[in-house]
Amino acid sequence: MMRAARVLALCQEVLFPRRCPFCDEVLGFSGPCAACAEGLRPTQRVPGAPVPLLGREARYVDCVYAPYFYEGIARNAILRMKFYDRPELAEPLAADVAEALRAADALPPFDLLVPVPAVEAERRGRGYDVPKRLAHALGGALELPVARALRKTRETPRQAQLSGKARRSNLRGAFAARPEVPLSGKRVLLVDDVYTTGATLDECAKELKAAGAVLCAGACVAAVR
Ligand SMILES: [Zn+2]
Repeated sequence: MMRAARVLALCQEVLFPRRCPFCDEVLGFSGPCAACAEGLRPTQRVPGAPVPLLGREARYVDCVYAPYFYEGIARNAILRMKFYDRPELAEPLAADVAEALRAADALPPFDLLVPVPAVEAERRGRGYDVPKRLAHALGGALELPVARALRKTRETPRQAQLSGKARRSNLRGAFAARPEVPLSGKRVLLVDDVYTTGATLDECAKELKAAGAVLCAGACVAAVR
């Protein structure tokens, strides 16, 4: 039995070799290849340090964590995950988010993970929902349940195409808490791919808190510097 399992593992290794999540180089172990590990260094944020909220929209969100700056090969990996049909990259990227959260010792224990609702048109175009994939991968790593506690009330233009002020007004009232998910007294970790002006996470945190959540932190793969 042991032997069969080992043979199976070996076959998997040969048929589906582990690859560097940042450049697809075939690896014998998990994590980035040596070249990408070196290239990632300038894009790595201090492990466990929250993203500075000053200058961002942060009236409702309590703190935000992200392992990378949205630059260089970290940014490329996110773009590949989002736009180049590589949803499985959510797994290694979420593992890096989990590391950043574990390194933050001031973090409270969370009750559930909530993915930021994706823009419907994006989800349709891609066939997968990036924040949801990230939330499930992160939930696996942190052993926390995932609940789709928020829904979009209307379609909104993509945030990336808008400037700061327009981003906030674009989102006002765009999210609503789902009444079937109990949020009273809950400590929630909101999951998204990129933290930019903070408007999206803050609008989500506003709705979650209005529905009874006592704490809303953010977990993203990367933050704009
Ligand atoms: Zn690589």
